[in-house]
Amino acid sequence: MGLNLVMLGPPGAGKGTQADAFARERGIPRISTGDMLREAVHAGTPIGLAARERMDAGLLVSDDVMIAIVDERLDRPDTRAGFVLDGFPRTVTQAEALDRMIDGRSPLMVLEIVVPTDVLVRRVRGRRVCDRCGANAKPGDASFCPSCGGPFVQRSDDSEDVVRERLRIYERDTRPLVAYYRSRPTFRALDGDRPPDVVARAIREAVAAAADAAREAGRPS
Ligand SMILES: [Zn+2]
Repeated sequence: MGLNLVMLGPPGAGKGTQADAFARERGIPRISTGDMLREAVHAGTPIGLAARERMDAGLLVSDDVMIAIVDERLDRPDTRAGFVLDGFPRTVTQAEALDRMIDGRSPLMVLEIVVPTDVLVRRVRGRRVCDRCGANAKPGDASFCPSCGGPFVQRSDDSEDVVRERLRIYERDTRPLVAYYRSRPTFRALDGDRPPDVVARAIREAVAAAADAAREAGRPS
């Protein structure tokens, strides 16, 4: 039975790292729409160019484009044993499209990683990168990068206003999405304001519980 998992969580919640670790552990692909869009932008494809315009304006890429990207990706054979979707769906329209895409496969499991806005803003405020080599500063690092000696600076896209705006958009779009999934036995919300290893364990437990619930309920029509 395939393990088809959607991970929801606000920017800064550590969702990407958790999704990546979980997917590796289970040997299934992590499908990050953010990464796919960045690659498309970098390659200068028509989708990439359209996406860049929207992202530069701080907007989400349109439903049609996102659905097309994910539909194409889920058609590849490496998703047969399952997948971890990170960054999709973002809207109810996308969620409905996803249900159609995986019709006939194992039921979708949905995990929401919940972290309060103030905690996220505080986390991002402290995030610094090396101006020379791009390494991330670890908590407790001084003003200079231990590997190359370059100065640590605040990430340019991490200014507090940008972060608050991103979180506002996330809240606005995700609330209806959670409402769409919440009544399913395969939906779980978990507290993401804990150390990463504790969150990772909670994810494993939530997936196991959701899988049990899915087996009990049988395939939803
Ligand atoms: Zn450096």
